[in-house]
Amino acid sequence: MNGNRGLLIGRMQPVHKGHISVIKETLKEVDELIIGVGSSDKSHTNSNPFTGGERILMLTKALREFNIDPARYYIIPLEDIACNSLWVGHVKMLTPPFNNVYSGNSLVQQLFEEEDIPVIQPPLFNRTEYSGTEVRKRILNNENWEELVPYSVVEVINEIKGVERIRKLNKKEISELI
Ligand code: ATP
Ligand code: MG
Repeated sequence: MNGNRGLLIGRMQPVHKGHISVIKETLKEVDELIIGVGSSDKSHTNSNPFTGGERILMLTKALREFNIDPARYYIIPLEDIACNSLWVGHVKMLTPPFNNVYSGNSLVQQLFEEEDIPVIQPPLFNRTEYSGTEVRKRILNNENWEELVPYSVVEVINEIKGVERIRKLNKKEISELI
C-alpha cells in the first residue's frame, strides 16, 4: 500500500452497471477509492428521484454483490453548494484526503484542475445503455431497466417503491404544465 487514494463522483440516480465497471477499473489503479454520492441532498425530482441515503444503500449492496473488498472504498455523501468556486474546498472538507480525481464531467475537471488536483478521465462502458438517464427513461416507459442495474439495486428500488415514485413524479411535473 503506497497510500494512493482516488476520488470518483456520481449522482447515481440510480446506481447502474456502468458505475460498477468504472469503480472496478479504478480500483486497479488506486489503493483506496472514495466514492462521492453527488447532489446527496436532492431527491423526488425527475432527474434526482432517489435520496442520498437510498443511493448509499444501493451502492453498498451493489459493491457487496460484486465482491468488492469494503476495506478499499469509502462512500461519502456530497450535498450540493451554490458556489462553483468553493466546491472543491467543500468536497475536500467532506472526504478523506485524495491524490487524484476520476471524472468525465468537464466542469468537475476544470474546478479540480484549477486547484492543481490531477483529474483522470476514465473510459465509459456501454454508455448508450449504462446511463442513469436511460434507466429512468426505461422505468417510465415500462421497458427493461432491470438489465442495466445490479440485481441488488433492483431489490432496493423495489423495497422503496422507486418505480411508482418515478412515475408519480413524472405525472406531477406534466400536470404542473397544464
Ligand atoms: P445521469 O444520466 O443521471 O447523469 P450518469 O449515468 O451520467 O447518470 P452519474 O450518476 O451522473 O451517471 O455519474 C457520472 C459518473 O459516473 C461519470 O463521471 C463516470 O465516471 C461514471 N459513469 C457513468 N456511467 C458510466 C459508464 N457507462 N461507464 C463508465 N463510467 C460511467
Ligand atoms: Mg451524468
